[in-house]
Amino acid sequence: NANGGGTGSKTNVKLDDITKIFQDDEEGKVVAVDDLSLDILDGEFLVFVGPSGCGKTTTLRTVAGLETPTEGQVIIDDEDVTGQDPRQRNIAMVFQNYALYPHKTVRQNMSFPLEVRNYPPNEITERVEDAAELLDITELLERRPKQLSGGQQQRVALGRAIVREPDVFLLDEPLSNLDAKLRLQMRTELNELHQKVGKTTIYVTHDQAEAMTLGDRVAVMRDGEIQQVGPPQMLYDNPVNLFVGGFIGEPPMNFFPVDIEDTGDGYTVSSVHFDFQLPDRFAQKLSERDSPLGEAILGIRPEDISDAEFVDETEGYHVFDSRVKIVEPLGSDKFLTMIDPEHDPSEEPITSAGTEGEIVTQATEEFTVRVPPESTAREGELLRIAMEFDSLHLFDASTGKNIL
Ligand code: ATP
Repeated sequence: NANGGGTGSKTNVKLDDITKIFQDDEEGKVVAVDDLSLDILDGEFLVFVGPSGCGKTTTLRTVAGLETPTEGQVIIDDEDVTGQDPRQRNIAMVFQNYALYPHKTVRQNMSFPLEVRNYPPNEITERVEDAAELLDITELLERRPKQLSGGQQQRVALGRAIVREPDVFLLDEPLSNLDAKLRLQMRTELNELHQKVGKTTIYVTHDQAEAMTLGDRVAVMRDGEIQQVGPPQMLYDNPVNLFVGGFIGEPPMNFFPVDIEDTGDGYTVSSVHFDFQLPDRFAQKLSERDSPLGEAILGIRPEDISDAEFVDETEGYHVFDSRVKIVEPLGSDKFLTMIDPEHDPSEEPITSAGTEGEIVTQATEEFTVRVPPESTAREGELLRIAMEFDSLHLFDASTGKNIL
């Protein structure tokens, strides 16, 4: 298991029908967490991911004991800890801003959680030095936080959590204050650390790539509810709804508004860009539905749709013409933004595609394809596009649910 940890089958942290309602002066009642249940396994690295305000932090703080749920129970190692305060729970939390004591040295910062619990001095020294070695910060032990880089401060904050040898680590956006390069490096280090320490870790982030690379399982949240939970690849391959499909993956999945028609001997799909007959395996699923079809959203990831020139055998693909609007070379790949060939390039875009960071759950008239770096596609030219049938996703236009 590349994502580390001795993931056992035993539940370590159980969230049982957790609801948290805040009373906000301006907005009235805010349901931050809405009847959320989840079993987190012993040794597992579980990531909560979702857009701002979806209730990730509140869920984590509830496990920590920093929030008391309005309803529901938190159970750690078969013990109901809902009424216990944070001190009574054998957990350690690492915050986004690290919360180091500025006037204490690294050694004093790391010793502090053990001193307040009255550990003997020689054990404190031993644990702090072991953790420092694990995190490669031994040379920094006599420094103060302001003499450290962001990444070093991050390691000290982790070290302070590790010395206590807690049953559960809680991390809230621990990498968000670091620059992009350091964030990638710390991501790898967190993976390694989890492999070595092997303790249950619950991690909160709004960054889907971070969630995918760190999590044994990822729980995608929206509006206080878990939309889907599972191993990263499962969420990527089989998103249960439009939201998960659009949230996981970068650049995001393309969504096409389509009309589906039952022709008697199959189903045809039509959009601004293409018309084709769905393969039999989809027809079977569609014929089992009780609700009528009509409008739907067809999803396909940029890597599953390419310039037909780079597809050896177009059997199993739908091929259609489209116009290149933008070429973005990324070194290892190029991404092309495509528009309907009838569209006059001198006109304003029909609709704008999602900007970076925005979650695209709205279908747009443009779509993105990934092509190899040797592609010579130029802006404005027509291209034959090949879209792989096996990689299509189909979502109900009104509920957003995946219907295949
Ligand atoms: P972010 O990534 O922005 O931190 P989040 O997913 O962690 O977001 P939470 O911080 O859990 O979201 O907040 C969930 C909802 O609860 C939000 O609407 C937020 O405004 C509200 N909320 C959180 N804490 C409080 C509070 N103490 N009082 C009132 N409302 C709160």
